[in-house]
Amino acid sequence: MWYPYVLYVYNTMMRDSRRGFLKRTMGPLWTGAALLDQAMLRATAARAQARTAVLPKLFNIQKVAPGVYGAIATPLPNLNCNAAIFENDKDLLIVDSHARPSAVVSLLQQIRKEVSTKPVRYIVNSHFHWDHSEGNPAYRRLFPQAEIITSDTTRNLLREFGAVRAAAQVEQATKMVPEYKKSLAAAATAEEKAYWQFMVKDSVEFASEMKDYKPELPSITIKSDLVIHYTTHDLHLAFRGKGHTAGDVVVYCPQKKVIATGDLLHSFAPFIADGYPRFWPQTLRAVSDFDFTHVIGGHGGVQDSKLRLHQMAAYIEDLTEEVTKLKRQGRAVADVKKVIEPGKLKSLSRDGYGDFLMDSIGKYRLVKPGTVRATILSDAVASNIEHVYDTIDKE
Ligand SMILES: [Zn+2]
Repeated sequence: MWYPYVLYVYNTMMRDSRRGFLKRTMGPLWTGAALLDQAMLRATAARAQARTAVLPKLFNIQKVAPGVYGAIATPLPNLNCNAAIFENDKDLLIVDSHARPSAVVSLLQQIRKEVSTKPVRYIVNSHFHWDHSEGNPAYRRLFPQAEIITSDTTRNLLREFGAVRAAAQVEQATKMVPEYKKSLAAAATAEEKAYWQFMVKDSVEFASEMKDYKPELPSITIKSDLVIHYTTHDLHLAFRGKGHTAGDVVVYCPQKKVIATGDLLHSFAPFIADGYPRFWPQTLRAVSDFDFTHVIGGHGGVQDSKLRLHQMAAYIEDLTEEVTKLKRQGRAVADVKKVIEPGKLKSLSRDGYGDFLMDSIGKYRLVKPGTVRATILSDAVASNIEHVYDTIDKE
């Protein structure tokens, strides 16, 4: 039972002063604390731990290059994003803040154990989506001096949609609980039972944590480029055009040849509901001008070349062309979905992109027990068709 501890930590965080919060949450891990404080922290942590077991591990942190780490999100019903961690001379820059403040608390405890005890100085929101920005309030409370950076467009989108989307998520999670309970009651195998129990548990916890959520807006915005210079390396933040959203930011380290791309490029099928399918491929190709060998995307595993970038661009292009043709003929979306099957899209069969997507989604997303592998891809394509159909003419 790890979750109550995290919730306890988060509630305490929201209630207490910064000093009080640091004492209670970071415990002996908070290296900046004075000795006397540390003794108090140890006592507090011991009391808390007596009621709990180990803290949640929501990420697998892997070293991508010296001083660069990918925190790869484990599958959850209410999806978390990955984080990219850049370790600098005296501080950390972290890309993206996940779907709830408690995920940030969990990640930071893991970072302190596995990566570094340096403070977080910069947080970058790659885009405005819930699963990449809803941990901002935790960073703001934990590191009041830190700057949260994004594009000016993403900040505007967060201001406009941050609270509304979070409220809709809470409503959806709450609404689904009775449905999940029904499925749990009807579960035939131990595996199915465990799956539906997890769906219920996570949704109840998510709704409970997020019900009074207020977005924390970024403190610095960029139009196109910002370079942070350290003695050992540079971090280059860049906006290269519309794609997954209107304001996607990437973070590139030329010396380490690593790029963090949010959901502009990741190891799942693209999510196009807020996207610009006619612009996305060219934005990806503009990003490929950076000289990198590793990609930490917003979801799924780390990529070790530019292959998936070109495959994702080709797939979005391919799909957009097919959907446009059929929509111009006056076909309804349901009809378009029937006509465009994954097997008809050359971009999916070229260099095994479709197989890669099925493997990746199967591994890094929560998939219902008994799901036939091929439906992972056909469901993703059907959802992409629907979103391309709706967003095709967006400028
Ligand atoms: Zn995402």
